[in-house]
Amino acid sequence: MEKVILKQLSFEAFDVFVKDLGWPKYRAQQVRDWIYQKRISRIDEMTNLSKSDRALLESRAVLGEIEPGLRQQSADGTQKFLFRLSDGQEIESVLIPEEDRNTLCISTQVGCTLDCTFCLTGTMGLVRNLKAHEIVDQVLWVQRDMESEVKQDLPERTTGRASLLTNVVLMGMGEPLANYREVTEALRRLTHPKMVGLAPRRITLSTSGLVPQIKKFGESGLNVNLAVSLNATTNAVRDRIMPVINRQFPLETLLRACRNYPLPPRRRIFFEYVLLKGVNDSEEDARRLLRLVKGIPCKVNLIPFNDYPGAPFSRPGEETVLRFQKILIEGGLTAFIRKSRGRDILAACGQLRTATEDRPTLIESVRS
Ligand code: SF4
Repeated sequence: MEKVILKQLSFEAFDVFVKDLGWPKYRAQQVRDWIYQKRISRIDEMTNLSKSDRALLESRAVLGEIEPGLRQQSADGTQKFLFRLSDGQEIESVLIPEEDRNTLCISTQVGCTLDCTFCLTGTMGLVRNLKAHEIVDQVLWVQRDMESEVKQDLPERTTGRASLLTNVVLMGMGEPLANYREVTEALRRLTHPKMVGLAPRRITLSTSGLVPQIKKFGESGLNVNLAVSLNATTNAVRDRIMPVINRQFPLETLLRACRNYPLPPRRRIFFEYVLLKGVNDSEEDARRLLRLVKGIPCKVNLIPFNDYPGAPFSRPGEETVLRFQKILIEGGLTAFIRKSRGRDILAACGQLRTATEDRPTLIESVRS
């Protein structure tokens, strides 16, 4: 009999599986706790199950983990993780430690169909969508890794349930809303209080602008943050840098969807804007941006382009970036300049692409 992969089971499927084993219902939560809260790596670590129950579970199921591969650390502390999936495909996640938070950027697809011209992931094409458990497992694996590091340093101050990861962003490889079913199931598991249990406001999904899915996502009740990669203030420029998505859903259609997006109270949409020298970084662009987002509760994240070898764009000077921000702020917008992290290991925004053929450079694909 083929073994069940425990991490593939939804909350409800878990209950059914435990019932089929002839176990009482509460046992489902015990096993879920071991997987999602204590983040074990082997079934025989489930010590509140008797030896015979663990043996039964092992005979019928496996955990089904993604496999860690190469890991790189940037001079600024950013860490890039390569993970190998059960079919040999590879994905990347990037951990960005800051003073008051630790943010993990995770992938939702192997590659991407959308071919944005400033993004290395787009050059791979789409290899396949990730399954919900492959998305969630990036979080579980990094949480476990962070805990084990802290335990080595400060053993008396940590417990098995502690989570040092504060924020998760779906901005790694792939367009999350193009893998809608698996991504929303992953978000259900990440936010379910009896599974991973992260607060929805700590999670941000970033889309290049798939309008029908944005609408559906707003109605999903998941209540995580929405970020939209805008990157241009005219269709002519957006057609050039995000050709596939902008031809389908031009700026006016995208902004209408943002205007109608049902935001939870006190939340705002994040607009991401990659600044490309001489392409979208003029004062006129800044003023047009103000007009475009007028009336939408939002914040703007400005991301000076991160170069990579052979990149068709370059990074604007600091003065240009600051002037762009100043115009937005003076116009009444909240606008941040995102600090580049991990540029030396090609883990910064806009630099992601796997993969195998690029080693040892590896993971180059964090996007906007
Ligand atoms: S920016 Fe995002 S949507 Fe565009 S190609 Fe890169 S991964 Fe895909």
